[in-house]
Amino acid sequence: MIRQQAGEIPYYQFESFPAERVLHGVFTRLGGVSRPPFASLNLSVSVPDDRHAVMENRRRFYAAVGVAGSAAVRTVQVHGTRVAAVGPDDVDVVQQATDGLVTGHPNLPLVMAFADCTPVFLYDPVRGAVGAAHAGWRGTLAGICQAVVQEMVDSFGCRPADIQAAIGPAIGPCCYDVGPDVAAATVAAFGESEGLCWAGGDGRYVFDQWAANETALRRAGVEQVERADLCTACRVDEFYSHRAENGLTGRFGAIIMLRE
Ligand SMILES: [Zn+2]
Repeated sequence: MIRQQAGEIPYYQFESFPAERVLHGVFTRLGGVSRPPFASLNLSVSVPDDRHAVMENRRRFYAAVGVAGSAAVRTVQVHGTRVAAVGPDDVDVVQQATDGLVTGHPNLPLVMAFADCTPVFLYDPVRGAVGAAHAGWRGTLAGICQAVVQEMVDSFGCRPADIQAAIGPAIGPCCYDVGPDVAAATVAAFGESEGLCWAGGDGRYVFDQWAANETALRRAGVEQVERADLCTACRVDEFYSHRAENGLTGRFGAIIMLRE
């Protein structure tokens, strides 16, 4: 990923997405006004942060990439597999219980928020479509990556082989200790757990979200996958981590928009 800086606000971009066709960014926790434990660029009102601070943070977030917040499509994410294909009528309407968004419309920013779960971005340069997904272990194993690719196929006639995917900062295998339930669910979802979830001692397991999402995307037919391999729990200086901060923290934003 490439680190960009817009005034006080840093954000990351994937190298494989052409800037002239796709506006996008994965933001950090830096450059906002929220106080600890939400310091500082928390975008979510689902955590008990000061609402005025969140509104100011959102203003800064949109201003950093030069889009109007009122033009964005946002979600309430539930670790599920619902994907919404959205258009201009969905602007400024929060999509309830939705973990995937796709659009073929230019100038329609898709926005999601994260703290350990994986931001997945998709771009089809042939059909002119973008997508975003919120993929934690639960959503990943339930098939959110396959669902968002399928929605791009169904709604826009995309060929999975044309789609470029990118996996953003998320809790990595260095820090993601899980129980035997996740190990069993990994086998149920993928038919194997090799390289995705392995025994870590003391009856605990290690889950590799980055690899699991990449595997899910490749099984859906996506051939081009860029990975950040940046761990949110190792890097609480830059990102929010639900796990590393014991559940009381903010959410950093990610935005993707097709340009005209
Ligand atoms: Zn880590």
